[in-house]
Amino acid sequence: MEDLKNLKNKEIINLVKNKKITPADMIDSGICPTCFDKENGNILYGDNADKVIFEDDNFLCFLAVNPRANGHTIISTKKHYKDMLETDDETCQEIFLLAKRVMNVLKEVYNSESVYLCTMCDGPMNHFHVQLIPRYSFEKRGSKNFVKPRLEYAEDKEKIELLRKKLSL
Ligand SMILES: [Zn+2]
Repeated sequence: MEDLKNLKNKEIINLVKNKKITPADMIDSGICPTCFDKENGNILYGDNADKVIFEDDNFLCFLAVNPRANGHTIISTKKHYKDMLETDDETCQEIFLLAKRVMNVLKEVYNSESVYLCTMCDGPMNHFHVQLIPRYSFEKRGSKNFVKPRLEYAEDKEKIELLRKKLSL
């Protein structure tokens, strides 16, 4: 794989369109796929506006496209930080306070017993985000909940509306 960093944006877009490179290739080349996607009309991940449950000036909160549990949610910063270590204290505080709010709402709306939180941005490049994964009463407690098999995303418009409403209060 040639070093993508030496290519022009247009050339990278062509590689993406022809399915010659994956987000993982970008990460290996030090290009943030999340920012690249945003700057190029969602060319990598597609438009996920239908999955967004909360948004403000600094954060975007949306349902995972390949969830490990119903209600699996991601909170991402709008500004680029490679990982939590790169964030300023204010952003770090804000995202965890927001995570607490979202976890309470997820627990209520999905009737889960608990909600797990993890962040594990790693590699030469990444885009800071936290993952919130509900754990249901029929599931055993423990770290295996972080690696539950991924499910097909099933849209539940009623739940999405309820999440949006509760998070807008
Ligand atoms: Zn980024």
